[in-house]
Amino acid sequence: MTTQTQSAHIIDGVELSRKLREEVTARTQTLKARGITPGLAVVLVGENPASQVYVRNKVKGCQDCGFHSVLEQYDAGMTEAELLIRIAALNADPAIHGILVQLPVPAHINANKVIEAISPLKDVDGFHIASAGALVTGMRGFWPCTPYGCMKMLESISYDLRGKHAVVIGRSNIVGKPMALMLLQKNATVTICHSATKDLKAFTLQADVIVAAVGKRNLVTADMVKPGAVVLDVGMNRNDEGKLCGDVNFEGVRQVAGHITPVPGGVGPMTITMLLVNTLEAAERAAK
Ligand code: NAD
Repeated sequence: MTTQTQSAHIIDGVELSRKLREEVTARTQTLKARGITPGLAVVLVGENPASQVYVRNKVKGCQDCGFHSVLEQYDAGMTEAELLIRIAALNADPAIHGILVQLPVPAHINANKVIEAISPLKDVDGFHIASAGALVTGMRGFWPCTPYGCMKMLESISYDLRGKHAVVIGRSNIVGKPMALMLLQKNATVTICHSATKDLKAFTLQADVIVAAVGKRNLVTADMVKPGAVVLDVGMNRNDEGKLCGDVNFEGVRQVAGHITPVPGGVGPMTITMLLVNTLEAAERAAK
């Protein structure tokens, strides 16, 4: 008996990011020729080491594309009122087109209040209620960067979602829910699975597209995937050796899937890239 094995096409988030950032850089030059430089303000409160790495990468991404970027770092003792005053000042600053407050904020600060204080015109993270509402109703707003990056990855393989069954695992406001809405907007039939879903495998086996956004390694294994399916892995976890890994058992699932994203080098790099795209878009809108 011969066992037939297949190896999925790997969607390379690093390479796709590079291409998209080239386009962002070119559009930035065009805007600069008109006297406008896209500007992003990144605000970090507290000393969370992971957040410090994230904000540094975001600022570097801005610099590489020719943006103006401002990193405002405050100690963990900053009050909510002080932070809201800073956001109001950034809302009024014409050199700033995008404002990002790195989450999580310290426990004494209400994250929702902070997000809602950001002008929807500068909400490049896409977390404001106005952006969420725009996504639900199909109006113009800003799409949250991680699911937006997943959509770009599907676009990069010319995947037509019309009539396809997409299963999103996870229902957070920043990944799962907006992901489901974006897939729906492209005419997929969408199922959202979550922590209370019974028999996850019964759903994933029906899926043409699986998006795993949970934060549990090996949640999606080869026996849960329909042959040829597209598997996008948003999860960021550590394995026993401390290495970054996703929610999907990559080695197993790549034998069954048609397309798969690796971790690292998949959805992760796309998230910052889409932040740059949103910031440029905000600057272009402001210029009109
Ligand atoms: P979250 O904790 O807010 O949400 C996790 C979701 O998973 C919840 O909706 C929950 O219902 C669901 N869930 C939990 N256990 C489950 C199970 N056994 N079966 C099915 N669903 C289950 O997390 P989040 O912020 O949405 O992030 C999810 C993962 O994506 C995390 O690993 C996070 O680090 C990662 N992430 C990566 C990026 C990136 O740029 N690559 C960006 C954001 C988040």
